[in-house]
Amino acid sequence: MIEVRDLSKRYDGRAVVDGVSFTVPEGELLVLLGGSGSGKTTTLKMINRLIEPSAGTVRIGGEDTRGLPGHVLRRRIGYGFQQVGLFPHLSVGENIAVTPSLLGWDPTRIRARVDALLEMVQLDPDLFRARDPAELSGGEQQRVGIARALAAEPALLLLDEPFGALDPLTRDHLQQSLQWIRRELALTVVFVTHDMVEALLLGDRIAVLREGRLVQLGTPAELLRNPADDGVAELMETPQRQARIVDDLLGLAPDGPRGEGV
Ligand code: ADP
Repeated sequence: MIEVRDLSKRYDGRAVVDGVSFTVPEGELLVLLGGSGSGKTTTLKMINRLIEPSAGTVRIGGEDTRGLPGHVLRRRIGYGFQQVGLFPHLSVGENIAVTPSLLGWDPTRIRARVDALLEMVQLDPDLFRARDPAELSGGEQQRVGIARALAAEPALLLLDEPFGALDPLTRDHLQQSLQWIRRELALTVVFVTHDMVEALLLGDRIAVLREGRLVQLGTPAELLRNPADDGVAELMETPQRQARIVDDLLGLAPDGPRGEGV
């Protein structure tokens, strides 16, 4: 479980994250949703202390994260992001093995873990473990990125727009893989995106950020039915409009005008 309380980050006196509080129960996937510059990445990076908060607390499993050195904390928390950041001079297998190696795992255990993770993200270990990152497609690199984030068996995974740069089909496959993996491993996940459709598809709950503040936190259904303000209503309108268009194309729409007063 993650408990974020009154978390703030100020740069030169300007609050880019402003008094944000939320709790992520064990096994939940919480989406942080908002436009560019709303404070999503800063909030996420304060959870693993890649960014030090100006104020507020983060507790993981009841433990205040300030009690641990940042690098020790980060080895316990999986972290993946859009640029992936695979080390180009290391093979796929070596990239996945980075954190287990740092933690001093036995080489046999590391080899088994690398192969198990490649299987999990649907890359054939025999074909992929020795390849260079440069030889992979964008979707394959993201799969390796997720395998690497899970390498040291974290209970908690932080993902920052991990599928942002992918074509829609690959993205759809990876979203489904992620849902399967996180349920299989009972992971607690915080997932940053600016994409409403992705938020609705993946989130058990969605936290909407605007100008560094938490505007609404609820299940996708709650946000759709009871948006906290016009801004959230507008965010929710896009996926609904797209769904209506697809319904109409499929001939599923009932007669007459629909979707008034969203
Ligand atoms: P998001 O992930 O929602 O796009 P960010 O958390 O990256 O937003 O950024 C929130 C705001 O904080 C932005 O206005 C950004 O310009 C500002 N910001 C981020 N990092 C710094 C920094 N190191 N110094 C000053 N301002 C920053």
